[in-house]
Amino acid sequence: MKRRPQAYSFRMISTVWTSMLCLTILWLTVLTNTAGAAPGHEGEEALFTQLKSGKRMATEKNYTPAEKPTVYLTFDDGPSKLTPKVLDILRKEDVRATFFVLGEQVQERPNIAKRIVEDGHALGNHTYNHVYQELYSDFRVFWEQVQKTGNILQETTGVRPRFIRAPGGTYGNFDAFYFYYLGQAGYEIYDWTIDSEDARRPGMTADQIFRTVEKGPFGNEVIVLMHDGSGHDETVKALPRIIRLFKEKGYAFASLTPEVKPVQFSSGKPKWSRTETRESFDSLLAAAHEHRELWTSEDLPPGKDNALKALPSSSAAIAYAEAGQRGGPDRLNVHLGDRTLAFTKEQFRFRDDSYRVPLRPLIAAMGGTVEWNEERRTAVVRYGAIMAEYDLARQELRVRRPAPEWDAEAKTRIHPFPEMELANGTLYVPLRQTLELLGDRVLSSDVPYERGTEEVQAAVYGGYRTGWIFETNRRNPFAQV
Ligand SMILES: [Zn+2]
Repeated sequence: MKRRPQAYSFRMISTVWTSMLCLTILWLTVLTNTAGAAPGHEGEEALFTQLKSGKRMATEKNYTPAEKPTVYLTFDDGPSKLTPKVLDILRKEDVRATFFVLGEQVQERPNIAKRIVEDGHALGNHTYNHVYQELYSDFRVFWEQVQKTGNILQETTGVRPRFIRAPGGTYGNFDAFYFYYLGQAGYEIYDWTIDSEDARRPGMTADQIFRTVEKGPFGNEVIVLMHDGSGHDETVKALPRIIRLFKEKGYAFASLTPEVKPVQFSSGKPKWSRTETRESFDSLLAAAHEHRELWTSEDLPPGKDNALKALPSSSAAIAYAEAGQRGGPDRLNVHLGDRTLAFTKEQFRFRDDSYRVPLRPLIAAMGGTVEWNEERRTAVVRYGAIMAEYDLARQELRVRRPAPEWDAEAKTRIHPFPEMELANGTLYVPLRQTLELLGDRVLSSDVPYERGTEEVQAAVYGGYRTGWIFETNRRNPFAQV
């Protein structure tokens, strides 16, 4: 499915409430397909009745369990003045975490939000103002606040988070409708497995916070709830000890990714009274489905119609593949904003101190799409406002992006790209060049180990970053990574 340009989607979101009535009819068809309910009006009615009874829809999504014990540290309610201290500690300890931020706070401290992303952490959406009464009286308000915060984050950091944490947690606050709408819109909802209780009552000391975390439970995947909102100085003090605790227990630290199975409390006895009508259900679901298109390209299974066709490997490709197996790290993790793309040794190439990765999963994880034109032996990438053509026949990459009117020549640039290689039907491209030529930014990468896992951090801007940034790398355009 073709990705809708994001700028257009934003307009759609803002006008969606007015166009919803018209869309409703159109989306009835989509609903029955997406929800897996029986086709037609009855299926929808049954779905509505089920949700109304409080019974949640089961998710069909598959998640990937962590290979080794992993802890996801999460910080809610920031960014505040304390957040840079938290970031300093995480940087020093070389630990990645997830920040569920408030839109309101991001507006006040956009630079701290940017730093969260630049430091390689994931962002989550914690609504705009955290006011329970508003958020839980009507799903519309919750939805509007999530959209508003998503837009603010997209503008300031280039990341639109797919993760949501309900202020106060979902227990007693979310009902089956909240879970369903947000799920249909493509969001993942995360509660936690360990509450540090740093916001449970005032006056919790660092020691008490640490002792609470120390009690566990310590499963294979642990999500720790902490707060970096103002007033949580004691959490900052406790943080190094908490990190040490998990390190001693042998846990790996990671940011949330959409592959992490969400932890969600059962809905519980609702604290709020809400009226849900069939009409509002239809319109909210329409809005959710409209929104889902923002992420659609990421969810596509490896292409059917436009798949890179398996071709007999050229001798160069075979030699290349063999060279790729020697030396270099065993695994490559590419952290793209909220998402992590993990490659095993067989899935990427390491040559001349540079990483070549399969184009399709990379672009999909960035939020774009790839089509293979067999006749022209060219992979066409659409990524936000950018179109890029990896022309295998000419060994060049042409990038077209929006340019100022007075500078028409800047619109398309052609780069020699001899490093790309087709092997067994997979097009491998240099990682760093691809990210940077498509407007993203490689923030950091470890020195390549002989063994072990290489972690590459990148900030992704969804194909809407303006201006050419390749100049920075001109001296040696094919420098490592
Ligand atoms: Zn909160």
